[in-house]
Amino acid sequence: MGSFYVENFGCRATQADGAAIERQFRERGLERAGAPGEAEIVVLNTCTVTAAADQDARAAIRRIHRENPGCQIVVTGCYAQRAPEELAVLPGVARVIGNSHKHQLAQLALAHSAAKAGLLWEHSAWLKPCPDTEQAGGFVPLTKLTACDQRPAANDQRLVFVSDIFAHTELLAAPVFDAASERTRPNLKVQDGCDNRCSFCVIPYVRGQSRSLKLEAVLREVDALVASGYREVVISGINLGRWGRDLAVSHQPSAIRKSARQMRFEDLVRSILERTSLEKLRISSVEPMDWSDELLRLVAESPRVAKHAHVPMQSGSDRVLRAMHRKYRPWHYREKILRIREAMPTAAIGADVMVGFPGETDADFGETRRMVEELPFTYLHVFTYSARPGTPAAAMRNQVPVQVARERNRMLRELAAAKKQEFMRSFVGKAVEAITLSTFECERTEALTSNYLKVRVTGRHEANRWIRVLVEGVEDGTLLGRDWA
Ligand code: SF4
Repeated sequence: MGSFYVENFGCRATQADGAAIERQFRERGLERAGAPGEAEIVVLNTCTVTAAADQDARAAIRRIHRENPGCQIVVTGCYAQRAPEELAVLPGVARVIGNSHKHQLAQLALAHSAAKAGLLWEHSAWLKPCPDTEQAGGFVPLTKLTACDQRPAANDQRLVFVSDIFAHTELLAAPVFDAASERTRPNLKVQDGCDNRCSFCVIPYVRGQSRSLKLEAVLREVDALVASGYREVVISGINLGRWGRDLAVSHQPSAIRKSARQMRFEDLVRSILERTSLEKLRISSVEPMDWSDELLRLVAESPRVAKHAHVPMQSGSDRVLRAMHRKYRPWHYREKILRIREAMPTAAIGADVMVGFPGETDADFGETRRMVEELPFTYLHVFTYSARPGTPAAAMRNQVPVQVARERNRMLRELAAAKKQEFMRSFVGKAVEAITLSTFECERTEALTSNYLKVRVTGRHEANRWIRVLVEGVEDGTLLGRDWA
């Protein structure tokens, strides 16, 4: 029996892909090693959302090759899809498998191991991918692997498996379990890809068109998690609010089929509530224009949906939003956030905000800062723009100097920290419900409230239990409290 190790970088979606890759290896009888240094096959599941993410992946490849020179390094994920040639030349890399072929990853990696053992040999030479790789014959299908009794040469050719991502409709999905909350809140990816073309974003080019896990498959996964004892499940995607738009009418329940309308994200939320016994559903990021009245009503009215809305904002400047090709204007965004707050007075409301987009002036940034000040955010994810090769924004003039962008980032982070602190303080002296995580520290147990606040509760409590907590104070970005049964 062989061993494998998957190291993930980047967002939840990438981690969900990583979990699905682990499932592929396990189904083929391989065992998960405890560390990359102990594995025969090490998969690096990369991110490419910033230049720093690329750098992290390259550094990890070098580290793993140094620590475990005998292992087969397989590089996959968004960086592998975007620039396979950069990765294939790094020492120790045996396979570069883009998102286009991730669903076959274990098969491709094991075919390589078999080739090394003299069972199979790949006749094709080194393949340099190009944008229209498929037509250029760049993709090496598995059918090209043939039985052969000739051992591969010592200078074994490395291979790249990347083809046009837009030609692919597969969706990898397996629940992800955080190390910190391993026994509490699995994350289930139900959608992948994106049909938008935000000018700064490389994701559509590396993840392809929007596609959804079919309703019945989602319900099966949720049921399986519930049967295993999980109480809260987080559903996520690259553009989660677009879930269902690609599903054929024939895949829909008869009530929807009659009216023959496309399925929508609200249908998924309602179905999970009606057809599973999941105790708490948490929805991850949903674009502002996908927060329909119906979705808001479902989230606000059901006690089984966490009171949490993450709504990407990116900028408060109309000019910048237009240049970003975002599909809403600042006033649309403001209106959505105020409606969410009105419907859920104590909900967590979070946003992604980008600073330093090309051409962002002090005045543009001032509009973003004002919007952040005025709107009832309880936390923010602040990103500094990073030029991604091939995106329209990377070719724009007026790139903002790094120092200016950093300073804007610092200002927004400070503002966000102050808003979060104020939000947390508003719960002191009140009782909140939270789910215990699996971490203990100094005789306190960490738990998470429905509105996304960490609370450290006195005493040791078993993981994955609902507890009622009396909030007594705020310290280091978390609430402090005691069990208040
Ligand atoms: S909505 Fe925009 S930022 Fe988000 S994944 Fe799609 S293209 Fe990228």
